[in-house]
Amino acid sequence: MGISISYLSELISYDTVVSILVAAIVLLFSVGWFTLKSNSNITSKTVNHHSHSVCDNKNNNDNDEQDDILFRQPPPPTEDCPICFIRLPSLLTGSKYYSCCGKLICSGCSFANAKMNTEKLCAFCRTPMPVGTMEMIEREKKRAELDDPIAIYNTGCNYRDGRNGFPQDYSKALELWHRAAELGYANAYNNIGVAYYGRGVKVDKKKAAHYYELAAIGGCVAARYNLGIGERKRGNLDRALKHYIIGAKSGQNESLKKIQKMYSDGDATKEDYTKALRLYQEYLGEIKSPQRDEAAAFDSEKYRYY
Ligand SMILES: [Zn+2]
Ligand SMILES: [Zn+2]
Repeated sequence: MGISISYLSELISYDTVVSILVAAIVLLFSVGWFTLKSNSNITSKTVNHHSHSVCDNKNNNDNDEQDDILFRQPPPPTEDCPICFIRLPSLLTGSKYYSCCGKLICSGCSFANAKMNTEKLCAFCRTPMPVGTMEMIEREKKRAELDDPIAIYNTGCNYRDGRNGFPQDYSKALELWHRAAELGYANAYNNIGVAYYGRGVKVDKKKAAHYYELAAIGGCVAARYNLGIGERKRGNLDRALKHYIIGAKSGQNESLKKIQKMYSDGDATKEDYTKALRLYQEYLGEIKSPQRDEAAAFDSEKYRYY
């Protein structure tokens, strides 16, 4: 019995200890859980607050980074002329595309070749020039299959205009320009931007601006000019001026004229204008050649290069 009592008391005391322990654990667990929860609330609030401020900074940083890229002077979008090794002009009539070898040859070398070469061979690869539009289209098709971005871009233009035997098809044009742009031909992004101003597709000015920016970053001077116009319309004179200065340095005469106008309107300083003029003249110093001058004097519409 003694054993039983002691066993019972042991049982009681064991139960009591277990109960106390269980109660303690439950209490500790509850306190711990509440503490954890309240801490986690604070933490999550802190994190939310923190992440909010990080997000704001991130947006600012993203905008700054985007502006850094947008307002960086782009490299010339094309290589030097492969014949005279002088920088190719940014004005489109300042070079000619050859669908035989896919080379862009400057107006001066093209003109000299046309004048001297009665057999009508390519100025670069000496392939006979295509006879008629259809042969040229056939060659461009072959170049496009080789991922030549200018051939792909030109095919896109044929679809946009429904010319040279192509049906008018804007979605096909856009698809080809996307491909040409991704292959490095920035002018194609400008055409996409123009299209989003309602030329063939539904107006979407945000998308238009996005593609103008991509084109300008890639060195397309027409897109740079378009961005300048847009910023000036919105009253962002600083940003407009930045675009025009890059345009002038890249050889775009129209951008220079805009800076001159801003100066005469009191929207730009004399220093801004003289800086743009100096940059444009430096560009001219790089692209000018007697051969190109001779071509432009012969036919200013066909061979104009600045
Ligand atoms: Zn040349
Ligand atoms: Zn060629």
